[in-house]
Amino acid sequence: MRRLFVAGNWKMNTLHESAVTLAREVAAQCAGDSSSVDVLVAPPYPYLLAVKQELSGSHVQLGAQDAYFESQGAYTGEVAVEMLQDVGCDYVILGHSERRHVMGETDELINKKVVASLDKGLKVILCVGELLEERESGRTEAVLDAQMSTSLSFIDAERMSNIVIAYEPVWAIGTGKTATPDQAETTHAYLRNWLVNRYSAELAESICVQYGGSVKPENALELLSQPNVDGALVGGASLSSESFGGILSAARKIAG
Ligand code: PEP
Repeated sequence: MRRLFVAGNWKMNTLHESAVTLAREVAAQCAGDSSSVDVLVAPPYPYLLAVKQELSGSHVQLGAQDAYFESQGAYTGEVAVEMLQDVGCDYVILGHSERRHVMGETDELINKKVVASLDKGLKVILCVGELLEERESGRTEAVLDAQMSTSLSFIDAERMSNIVIAYEPVWAIGTGKTATPDQAETTHAYLRNWLVNRYSAELAESICVQYGGSVKPENALELLSQPNVDGALVGGASLSSESFGGILSAARKIAG
């Protein structure tokens, strides 16, 4: 059975002190937790090391919010996969909708980052999701198909075991609008079937597909109860240990 995986994407929020405090509180919430829920926080780059220290001894994993595909050199402002590993990251989030739509990242660039991360042994949370006008014009599946096909080019079945897919409808990110549990389940089932066709039924069954888009304590139980929803990628609600803890509690109720 797939384990539930709840990840907090802090985006460009917190300063040193608030990052350390939040990490300490999340680690405390997970102390002694023997349930089958995996937990991760992804702070801004400058606080990765300090957050890592706060998480030590807990099972909370550390993620970065992006990475560059080259290992070193004249790439001002970029951060290499090796650097993220050096400061203790377990995962990197790639293809987040803000990177796609604010920074203009293409599926081709995201694919280079996915390949580089997996080649070097860093696990990936790959985000995919459609815009509102794409959903309203019935193009959700075509958009997801294009994003998955290109972002996962050159990724064989063996390397897929280090990938988590995060389905994040762009219209639901930071807007307070959540996909209904039915909408999430239908789209997750489409993604799982995509993985069956591209790889195998066995592999598709093993891949964690998170939902992201205004997940909060009030809607987490229903969303996470859907058979093909294996966790959550949480933005706004991960910035308070109270609301992130509420989502973790919902996940633990389901995981038992
Ligand atoms: C996200 O940033 O991945 C996200 C889902 O944000 P929010 O939970 O705030 O919608």
